[in-house]
Amino acid sequence: MANDTDSSCIFCRILRGEIPSKKVYEDEYVYAFEDIDPKAPTHVLVIPKKHFAGLKEAQAEDAEAIGRCHLAAAEIARRRNIEHGYRTVLNVGPGAGQSVFHLHVHLLGGRSLSWPPG
Ligand code: AMP
Repeated sequence: MANDTDSSCIFCRILRGEIPSKKVYEDEYVYAFEDIDPKAPTHVLVIPKKHFAGLKEAQAEDAEAIGRCHLAAAEIARRRNIEHGYRTVLNVGPGAGQSVFHLHVHLLGGRSLSWPPG
């Protein structure tokens, strides 16, 4: 697993098992784990097993991985019974709060979520 990883990336290190994580879901394409600083009762990060920095760096060949991250988020939401209302979020760039430069989908749910987000 995780052939296409970056040696210094924290999420690649999680994929390689060098940093512990609370696994929620895994398949051929993605790995999902509990966010260390949760912002909602469910706050799961879904990451592709291939390293790329984020949405603006993604290439056409990454389309399946990005889609699989979202499908995995939907599956986790089903399993957690939060389908009444949840949110999937990609923070893109530091100005939007991106702090880890390995694409990740935040799955947030289990509480009411206001709109627009901050
Ligand atoms: P972002 O700010 O969109 O780049 O999101 C990065 C997320 O990664 C934040 O919500 C952090 O709490 C989370 N995070 C950082 N390090 C870890 C870690 N070792 N395990 C789990 N979540 C982490």
